[in-house]
Amino acid sequence: IKRIGVLTSGGDAPGMNAAIRAVARASLYHGISVCGIIKGYTGLIENNIIELTVENVSNIIQRGGTILKTARSHEFETPEGRARAYQVIQENEIDGLVVIGGDGSLTGARLLANEHNLPIVGIPATIDNDLAGTDLTIGYTTALNTIMDAVDKLRDTASSHERIFFVEVMGRESGFLALNGAIATGSEGALIPEDPTSTESLKKMIESGFRKTKSSSIILVTESGEREGQTLFIADDFKRRYPNFDIRVTILGHLQRGGIPCATDRIMGSRMGAAAVQALLDEQRNVMIGYDNDEIVYVPFVKATKKQKRIDPDLIDLLHMLSI
Ligand code: ATP
Repeated sequence: IKRIGVLTSGGDAPGMNAAIRAVARASLYHGISVCGIIKGYTGLIENNIIELTVENVSNIIQRGGTILKTARSHEFETPEGRARAYQVIQENEIDGLVVIGGDGSLTGARLLANEHNLPIVGIPATIDNDLAGTDLTIGYTTALNTIMDAVDKLRDTASSHERIFFVEVMGRESGFLALNGAIATGSEGALIPEDPTSTESLKKMIESGFRKTKSSSIILVTESGEREGQTLFIADDFKRRYPNFDIRVTILGHLQRGGIPCATDRIMGSRMGAAAVQALLDEQRNVMIGYDNDEIVYVPFVKATKKQKRIDPDLIDLLHMLSI
């Protein structure tokens, strides 16, 4: 390996910059040149590429977002788009690629690697934590802390009687942020896609006199797909059923993506970035770097997917038990 390319793709996540910095510095440390592709797969197709140096990745570890920018590219979803991307990779003499992103980005990486002879290593970065093969994804812990701060503030204002707050959080059909956010804030419930009974059990709780001893109730709700605002419909249904309750909705939206990355995300980004370069040096290909019990592991792309990620059902039980 003589030259590594690195890109960020899909939704931005706090800690991506730590990973970019680590890929750049670890490459340069090993005497390998390294370039950054701007705007993910779009930049790859459009040949939008800059040289990375020790200096131009300095002072970024503490910043949210991604200095390489990110994008969603429909063209890359076609074999022709990926063939064009591979052509640009060859023109730039890139012989190893590091893709930092979520499930979609790593699916794209797997297809590119399968169709063309290119070693690719993935780094899981998405606030949703929805990738199998790793305990955590970069950005998740920071987003969880952001949700926790926001819900704590809502709790302060929610303390008048008979009020239920539905708080919509991100997750793209994955309930980690809602469930662990609810546990971290002492919320009364979480409506998550992994627990299809959660809406019904909330209704049962309300009907059996729930909140008699509580002055406020907060329910975290996973957004539906990429659409914001689905929670408004859920709240309308509850309003119709329980006209005596004062029901409010707060959609946290994109503020969940931003902010200063927490220590965990910076350290994870640094470790995974360096591990990705090491994997390429060791001639590994088509693997995602994962965290398993605080150790770096190498997970084949086929096992690092959203479909295979499970939420621990004990966490659902824990929330129920602690919210009596
Ligand atoms: P996040 O979960 O944070 O949104 P993500 O990586 O899952 O991140 P996506 O928008 O799903 O975000 O994917 C990012 C990009 O990866 C897409 O714009 C597309 O270029 C590429 N991609 C996604 N799915 C595929 C696919 N099935 N085949 C080829 N490329 C894909």
